[in-house]
Amino acid sequence: MLQKFLALFRMNILILLLLIGTVMTVLIYYNGMDKIYNVSLADYPYVISTSDSVDGGRSVTQMQRTDSSIILDYELKEGSPYPYAGIQIYLGDGKSKGIDFSTYDSIFLWVKPRGEGSVRLYLRGFDSTISKIEDPVSLKFNELEYFPLDESYPAVFVPEEFRVAGWWVAQHNVNVHRARVDLSNIPLIEIQTGTSAPLGYGTLEIRGISFKGKIISEVKIASILVAIWFVTFLIILIIRFLEYSREHALNKRKREELEKNLQALEIEKNDFEKLSKEDPLTGCLNRAGFSSVLTREQERRNKQGLPVSFVILDIDNFKEINDTYGHTVGDEVLVNLSKLVQSKIRNTDVLVRWGGEEFVILCGNTPLQNAQVLAEKLRESIEKTKLIAERRITCSFGVAEMLPFEDAKELFNRADKALYASKSAGRNRVTSASLKRTSR
Ligand code: GH3
Ligand code: MG
Ligand code: MG
Repeated sequence: MLQKFLALFRMNILILLLLIGTVMTVLIYYNGMDKIYNVSLADYPYVISTSDSVDGGRSVTQMQRTDSSIILDYELKEGSPYPYAGIQIYLGDGKSKGIDFSTYDSIFLWVKPRGEGSVRLYLRGFDSTISKIEDPVSLKFNELEYFPLDESYPAVFVPEEFRVAGWWVAQHNVNVHRARVDLSNIPLIEIQTGTSAPLGYGTLEIRGISFKGKIISEVKIASILVAIWFVTFLIILIIRFLEYSREHALNKRKREELEKNLQALEIEKNDFEKLSKEDPLTGCLNRAGFSSVLTREQERRNKQGLPVSFVILDIDNFKEINDTYGHTVGDEVLVNLSKLVQSKIRNTDVLVRWGGEEFVILCGNTPLQNAQVLAEKLRESIEKTKLIAERRITCSFGVAEMLPFEDAKELFNRADKALYASKSAGRNRVTSASLKRTSR
């Protein structure tokens, strides 16, 4: 019981720990576990200025660093269809191996223009099926254009706000599946004046760009938690099942043991019952065993009118035998006498050791006369048989027939009286009680 309770407690503790662990994980996840990729331009070395002059335009730039940023002074001039000025920031090897920004959730951009106009941010992606190392224009233009004066500082964007420049898709004949934004390999970032920047002088103060994300994605962490819960419940289930099987087996064994014990007890009980009705020395019934047989015979006598007789026999001068030859010889006499008598009576007759050297034979369906004959036959046999080597043994007999509705005690008394008469008359003889009721 206690063990069961402890097992339950342990399992509940397990679930409680799991619950606490889950809550902690969620809290830690949303308040930490950040990964940040910072490009701080005050000291980042791989930055160059750029302008439409690479496309045949005439705009000019001048780039200088301060303690905290890059200041890009420029003059946008007519010349190319889209005059612009800006900077290029090289990441990774700056060609085909860049940085994977696809797992970041937000992009922080510190750009302050002097004057109005939009700013463009390009995260240039290397796509192995389209991009060629010798052609910088073949890096995908993941593009975002915004008005810094409308945004917070730093401006914050999410990856979903990027799109791929349409002119680049058209120019490179890009397959529709390849034309979507892909931030998984960015070797180059460009920050430029946007489409609406006015011609003439201008300045961009650029501090840097930051990418912020989680070490592990939401989906992944949720999957891990679900997996842990699932495995835990599976383990609990297995433990429960094993415990149940063990208990079941234990109960089965106990039940089998009990059944075995019960059988053994039953056998023992039967043995005891038998023993309690049997005289250990001679193997004859004792008085206790006799009573049930007697009841049966009495019923027969009363119902069917079948006669029942008692023959009592008592060894003559038995004390003397004991005294002269010892108790063991006395016992031998008792055993051999009972064997002899048993061999002379019918199967339906019952021999009982009444006590000491006194035996009673219950003869069912036997009238007095027949009992008397039997007693005489026995008397003779005993007299003739050498029950022991040392000397002859004789017995005295008393015979009586059960009267209608006479009880066993009365019958016995009458037989006993007859026996006494035999003793008085000199022993080794048979006396019958008369077929008359005696007063007690
Ligand atoms: P009687 O002819 O008048 O019957 O004389 P008895 O000596 O046979 O009768 P008594 O009642 O004086 O003695 C019976 C003796 O039987 C006394 C007792 O020691 C002996 N006895 C009783 N039970 C046993 C037994 O189980 N084994 C042995 N060896 N002797 C027993
Ligand atoms: Mg005797
Ligand atoms: Mg006696």
